[in-house]
Amino acid sequence: MLMALLAAVLAVTIAPQGATAAPSTPNFPAAIDDYSTYQPQTQCTAVKKGTVALRDLLNRTYGKHPAGLGRDCDQGGTSEHKDGRALDYHFNVYDAGEKADADEFLQWLLETDKYGNKHAMARRLGIMYIIWNRRMWRAYEPSAGWQPYSGPNPHTDHIHFSLSWAGAQQQTTWWTSAGVSQLPRGPLWDRTRWAGGSWDASATEVDGNTALADTAAATLPNGNMYVFNVVPGSGVWYRGRTAAGDWANGATQIDTNGSISAVAATGAPDGSLHVFSVVPGSGIWHRRRAADGTWSTSTHVDSNPYTTAVAAAALPNGTVSLLNVVPGSGVWHRGRTAAGAWAASAQQIDTNKYITSVAAASLGNGTLHVFAVVPDGGIWYRNRTAAGAWAATATQIDQNDSLLSVSAASLPDGTLHVTGVLPGSGVWDRTRTASGGWTNATQIDTNKNIFATYTAGLPNGTLHVGALVNVN
Ligand SMILES: [Zn+2]
Repeated sequence: MLMALLAAVLAVTIAPQGATAAPSTPNFPAAIDDYSTYQPQTQCTAVKKGTVALRDLLNRTYGKHPAGLGRDCDQGGTSEHKDGRALDYHFNVYDAGEKADADEFLQWLLETDKYGNKHAMARRLGIMYIIWNRRMWRAYEPSAGWQPYSGPNPHTDHIHFSLSWAGAQQQTTWWTSAGVSQLPRGPLWDRTRWAGGSWDASATEVDGNTALADTAAATLPNGNMYVFNVVPGSGVWYRGRTAAGDWANGATQIDTNGSISAVAATGAPDGSLHVFSVVPGSGIWHRRRAADGTWSTSTHVDSNPYTTAVAAAALPNGTVSLLNVVPGSGVWHRGRTAAGAWAASAQQIDTNKYITSVAAASLGNGTLHVFAVVPDGGIWYRNRTAAGAWAATATQIDQNDSLLSVSAASLPDGTLHVTGVLPGSGVWDRTRTASGGWTNATQIDTNKNIFATYTAGLPNGTLHVGALVNVN
């Protein structure tokens, strides 16, 4: 019932079909990738970033269509879907508008660029082969062009794309040579929800730096709020907002590691702040700001090199929970005691290997609440009792399969707010009441370029949602 209502609300926000405009092409230098060789499936691992990004590129260009990405090991024969390197994107040959969009996209992939590079965008994206409408194009036989395809599935209701490993891992020039410009970056805006439940009509620009790549926020019992932003190549910068509502004029750099890719933060009852930074290849680093404002040095709290996303929540008893996403594995949790001792090992709390984003919030009763985004699967929710027992199963609280990321916070009245980013639509907020029921999602921001959020609850009952707006 709840989900049906949400679906109905979201349906009206989807872009119209038959948009018929190819993706915009970045201004590349002449150097280009070799054609992909044939690299058949060898693993059963998580959907890769480049595969998700190819789907998102199609969604941004043509409006959202159903898409299939991963596949379980025991289903059918050899398939790059199992490696997380294949995308089934649904266009229907028998719908004139959809067929036009599909043909246009494939033409854009395969046309010669201004330097004379043949099949330029297919090479830059690392396309290995394409199957569409009873024909197949192979990067490893480029001079053959489109050839007849007579497999059992004629591919008249979807295009199949297989990517090279380099393309799936975003190591091809579409991702590296147009530079970072292809990855979302942009300034931070903050929006207030008053204690009475009404949202401010407008958002406030908190940080105009157009290079921000990730954001997090934490609040303290005194009503101060702090936002933390990742600037690739520079590190982590933070900025405070007083309980009276005044934002600091400038940001202060608290970490100079330019490799940091993601950040999480939480405020503890003793007035300390805890900030977690992800360094790809290294793991998670923790830094604490004491109530008197002094920062500790950075310590290494998790050495899993594959972590891509983090969340953190302090509990009323002073313990801090750290959650991290490991693609191909799931979500892991590690606790820090109020006295400052970290658990020796992390505990896996979710084995869904496709999870891409995680958020966490605690309530005054000592419970912990975790939210995870599954591409093509929506938002899943799991809680932990004050005594430390995790729910055996996760509950799906949002079915929208295009959600990109999630953030969450609690308020003193015992409600939880979960904020989801829907590319091409904006930001949606959903509330869990103090008695445990979920409300429908409400759109709180219609900016289609938002790619990341924070959600923060203040002691006075106001809620703040920060959003990074992509300028690339
Ligand atoms: Zn397929």
